[in-house]
Amino acid sequence: MNEKPQEIETVEELLAYALELEEESVDRYETLADEMEIHHKVQVAELFRCLAEFSEVHAGEVRQRTAGIPLPKIPPWEFKWNCPGSPEGDCMDEDVSYQMTTRQALELALYNETRGRDFYAQVAVESANPEVRRLAMEMADEEAEHVALLDQWLAREEMKEQASEDDPGLPSMSD
Ligand code: ZN
Repeated sequence: MNEKPQEIETVEELLAYALELEEESVDRYETLADEMEIHHKVQVAELFRCLAEFSEVHAGEVRQRTAGIPLPKIPPWEFKWNCPGSPEGDCMDEDVSYQMTTRQALELALYNETRGRDFYAQVAVESANPEVRRLAMEMADEEAEHVALLDQWLAREEMKEQASEDDPGLPSMSD
C-alpha cells in the first residue's frame, strides 16, 4: 500500500479514503474479536467489538455525507492492516491469528490505529483545502482516542503479564 496518498484537495476525496480505512478496520476488529472469543478472552473480545462498532459508525457517517454524491475516483489505495514487526506481510492470515495472544492482538490494533491517526493528521496539515484540513483534523482526533484506549489496555495487559511472572507460586527461572 502507498502510505502517503496523493494530495487530498476535496472533501469527497477525503471521504473516499476514509471509507476505505474505516471499512478495513471494521473487518479486522471483527476478526480479532472472533479470535479472542474462541480463546475465551471475553473482555478483550468486547473491546474489539466496541472498536469495530466505532469504525462502523464512522463509516456510516461518511456514507451518509456522500449519499447522492458520486465519490471521485481515487488513485488505487487500499488501507490494509500491517503487523508491527513486519509491515510487508499479512500477519492476520488464519494460522497466525489463531495463535495470537491478547497482547499481540492489542499491539496489532494499536499499530494500525496509529497509522490511521497519522494518515488523517498528515492530511490535516498538508491539504490546501481548509475544509479538508478541518475534517481530517476531526478524524485524526477520533483515531487518537482509539489509540489512547488501546494504549491503556496494552499497559494493563503488560502489568498482568508482569504480575504472573512475579507470582511466587510459579517455578522461578533465575535459580
Ligand atoms: Zn479508530
